[in-house]
This record gives sequence, C-alpha cells and structure tokens, in this order.
Amino acid sequence: MKVAVIGTGYVGLVAGVCFADMGNRVVCVDTNAATVEKLRAGRSPIYEPGIEELLRRNIAAGRLTVTTQAREALDGTEAAFICVGTPPRDSDGEPDLSLVYGAAKDIANAMTGPLTVVVKSTVPVGTGDAVEEIIRRTRPDMSFSVASNPEFLREGSALADFQSPDRIVFGVEDAKAEETLRKLYLPLRATGAPQIVTRRRTSELIKYAANAFLATKISFINEMADLCEKVEGDVTELAAAVGLDSRIGGAFLRAGPGYGGSCFPKDTCALLHTAQEYGVPLRVVEGTVAANNARKHRMAQKVIEAAGGSVIGMKIAVLGLTFKPDTDDMRDAPSIPLIRHLQRAGAEIAAYDPQGLRQARDRLGNVAFHGDPYECAADADVVVLMTEWNELRSLDLGRLHRIMRTPVMVDLRNIYPPELARRFGFRLVNIGRPGPR
Ligand code: NAD
Repeated sequence: MKVAVIGTGYVGLVAGVCFADMGNRVVCVDTNAATVEKLRAGRSPIYEPGIEELLRRNIAAGRLTVTTQAREALDGTEAAFICVGTPPRDSDGEPDLSLVYGAAKDIANAMTGPLTVVVKSTVPVGTGDAVEEIIRRTRPDMSFSVASNPEFLREGSALADFQSPDRIVFGVEDAKAEETLRKLYLPLRATGAPQIVTRRRTSELIKYAANAFLATKISFINEMADLCEKVEGDVTELAAAVGLDSRIGGAFLRAGPGYGGSCFPKDTCALLHTAQEYGVPLRVVEGTVAANNARKHRMAQKVIEAAGGSVIGMKIAVLGLTFKPDTDDMRDAPSIPLIRHLQRAGAEIAAYDPQGLRQARDRLGNVAFHGDPYECAADADVVVLMTEWNELRSLDLGRLHRIMRTPVMVDLRNIYPPELARRFGFRLVNIGRPGPR
C-alpha cells in the first residue's frame, strides 16, 4: 500500500518507519526542512531507541522517503495519516488544533484520488468531523473517508509498542475506511493485538479516557505516598501489594514527583475542557489534575526541607531532567517547575541528563548543565534524583558522597533502598518510605 504520514515527530516517525518495515511504500512529510534533511541522511531528529536502524533500513530498501511537499506524498496514495502535534494553547490549555487543520488542508490540496485520511494525533471529540468538513469544502470533487486511529505508544519503547500493541482502535464512519485500516494493520494480526472497531467519536474519546485513567493511577499512588509519609507506611510495599490484585494491576503504581511529558498533562486538561463543553462533570479527572499540579510545588518544598529549610546560595544538583527515561522529550517534565521553584527560592542549579540536555537548554535558564552526573554533583549541597535512567540507578554512592559538599539525597523515584543510601552516609529523603526502623 502507498501511505503518507504527515508529521515526523515521536508518533509520525515511528508510524512511518514501522509501516515501511511492514512492506508498505511510505512517504513522510514534515514542514520542518531541517528535520527532513536529517531524516534523509538516516538520522533521527528525536531520541528513541532503535529508530535510526529502522529508518536507515527502510530508506535503503526504497520503502521510505521523506519530503517537505505533501504533493509528493499524496500522489496515488490510499491512506494519509495526520500525526502532527496538538500542543496545549498558552491561553487556556485547550489543544491547539491548527496544525491538524493545516495538515487536513495540505492533504486536501494535494490528493489525487480516493483516499482514507486517518487522524492519529490525539484530538478532542468531533475533530474528525471538522477534518472531514475541511476536506469536503476544499475538494468537493474527491471521494474520501476520515478515520480515527489513536496512538498508544510510549516514548522510550515506541517501536515495540507500535509493533506489538495492547490493542488497535479504528474509529470509522464507513466500510472503505475500515477496510483500508484493516489491510494496513494486517501484519500486526499475528501479534494477537485485538482490533476494536468503533465510531469515530468513540475512538477519539478512547485515547483521552485511557490517558486520564493512567494519570489517575499515578495521582492516586502519589497521594497514598503522602499519607504513608505521615503514618510511617511504605508506599513501595503498599503499591506492590495493592497492584497484585488482578482487578487493579501493578503498572503505574509507582509513586514519584508527579506525571509529566507531552501527553498526560495536556490530555487530562483537554478531556476536562470537553467535559465542561458538554456539561458533564468529571470529578475524578479534576481531582487527578489538581493533585498533580499541587505535587509539583510539594516536591520543591520537599527539597527545601531536606536542605534544612532554606536553599539560598546552595548548589542543588538535579540528576535526570526528562519526564521519564529513554527519551529526550522535555515537554511538561516535572523537573522544570521543580527547578524554577528552587531558583526562585535562591538555589543555584546544576543539572545532568543523558539525552534531554538539548531540549532542557531551550526551557531552563540559569542552569549549569553537565554531561556527567558526578561533575554535576561536585560540591553540591543536595542531589535530587528526578528520572530513573538506568545509569542513575547504579551511581557510585561512595564517590557521590565524597564529592558532595553535604551528603543530602532527595530520591524522588525511590531508586535507592533507604538502608543502602544511609550506609553510604547520605541523609536520604524519598517518596512515601519510612526512616530506619
Ligand atoms: P511532535 O511535535 O514530536 O511532532 C509533530 C511533527 O509534525 C513536527 O515534526 C512538526 O514539524 C510536524 N508538522 C506540523 N505541522 C505539519 C504539517 N502541516 N505538515 C507536515 N508536518 C507538520 O508531536 P508528537 O509527540 O509526535 O505527537 C503528535 C500527536 O500524537 C499529538 O497529538 C500527541 O498528543 C499524540 N501522541 C503523542 C505520543 C507521544 O508519546 N509523543 C503518544 C501518543 C499520541
């Protein structure tokens, strides 16, 4: 099948290389000329394990090409995937759909024959209707369908998630769109992934409901951690026991500094906007968002308390900046409000991240960035563990202790067992775990 993918970010690039790897002829389109240049040279503009190998393999096999011109991609194409960003608007946090509508217009102007337009970007209920309207108005002469096919991949394991998904959702309004999507996803039938075929509006809502539920699990366990801290409980043991109930499941029950990234904060807010628009209160999701927002400042407060009540003039070393390991994505990372809060409180910030430094520099001012965790922690008064990168899970605690000015560790991911950190002489503050027995 000839497939066009509009937008080559975390979702579009993964979809593009994976569809190509399944044997399709894929043309990826991005309006960013520098991104296209990089991709053509076989280099990925984003950090995602394994992506460059797949990119190069499919370019070399002639199955994947990249262009800035929608016209090149749409010529004789059966399916066009919209994978552009839907960032929150600064004014009200609602998703900005202008890129989606822009992509719909580009597709409409460039299409040459019958086409299934598939919206893979995360979009509010009814966006598919608007996309359909744009294309119909622009090209009343053309026959086309608009489908929704939300993406559930996780950054850091995006290729495996795409190639072996928990489920595939097709939101369709006609038989042609369903047939096209079924044909395209046929190679994934072997993985046993269930295919849910539903109406377009349900499909759009499924993505938000899934993300809101996962965010709720995180906020829930984070609040349990707060309670554990007061009652001398241990949230890691609590979560393990609670998660063993098969009705609950252990995933997303790890207490930490709050959820972040380019999806959960934006998608929970977007869902609340939709609910408000339709006059349906979603109190659980409202609570989830409120708890997470409050948490950002609580975490900074935790660092200040660990430092003895004031961080004025202190050096705080933040290890890990991205919202999770194995990505370079810094969008809405909890490290950003934490660092800004500590800076306002008078701290000097040094920071280290294995992949996120480039994006972090664009978002954070007055931070001394380092390419090595020990360099970053040298002479620090407090070290804060923000992201559980593998290399931060196995720090040489003896060395860390020797190079710091005062051995205070705030472990916001509960990486280090309290006994171990204390054995190395650290004063440890963590999330929801008691002091020594
Ligand atoms: P991104 O910002 O990384 O990438 C979007 C790309 O689209 C950019 O490279 C941009 O230059 C390009 N673009 C914008 N307008 C264009 C146009 N008219 N034509 C061609 N290219 C255009 O975004 P992302 O993280 O890949 O997310 C895309 C969508 O998928 C969002 O709606 C997001 O919520 C959703 N999503 C993201 C993830 C994730 O983990 N990142 C997971 C599931 C769903």
